[in-house]
Amino acid sequence: MYGTGQDLKKPVLLNNLPEFESFKKFCGNFGIGFQKIDNHPFSEMLVPYILENCFGMKTNKEMELISRLQQLNSKMKLSRPERRLIKLNAILRKDASIVNLLKEIAQYKCQFPDCNSIILTESGTNYVEVAHVKPIFKGGQSIIGNLIVLCPNHHKEFDLGKLSISEQRIEMLSGNLNGKNFTIKLIN
Ligand SMILES: [Zn+2]
Repeated sequence: MYGTGQDLKKPVLLNNLPEFESFKKFCGNFGIGFQKIDNHPFSEMLVPYILENCFGMKTNKEMELISRLQQLNSKMKLSRPERRLIKLNAILRKDASIVNLLKEIAQYKCQFPDCNSIILTESGTNYVEVAHVKPIFKGGQSIIGNLIVLCPNHHKEFDLGKLSISEQRIEMLSGNLNGKNFTIKLIN
């Protein structure tokens, strides 16, 4: 199904979505239009799917992640800079939900540009780590720094390599790592 194009970021095919065929039958192959679609399970996922894919709107999970990071950031403002990292690590250890959200939104892929690292785990997901890039205080808007999803190699390279940061906001990080420019957006 295609939109008119005018208001859509890009047209999206709904045909491959789960339940689409059954939904089509339910609507009488669209002969009767979209009446009473609320009664079908497909409609529950249709609205968020269209908002995200056609209008580029953030999903609930993405909004939740940003708000969790903003909360962390404002909480950390109150503590002394030298205590922040210890506190942040303690929070992340105690509550895995931010770590899991980060990985899920990154689709379990390393966020460093052009990295195709795959380490398949027994459960079938790709193994990635959540790395912490310390905040820069010159113009940095993030108190906690950036939490980014990286493969183990890039994680180590961030920790040990020559890193310069040119822009750091809570949801984006750009700079140069060992001669390679990068921009990492928490949410694309
Ligand atoms: Zn990588």
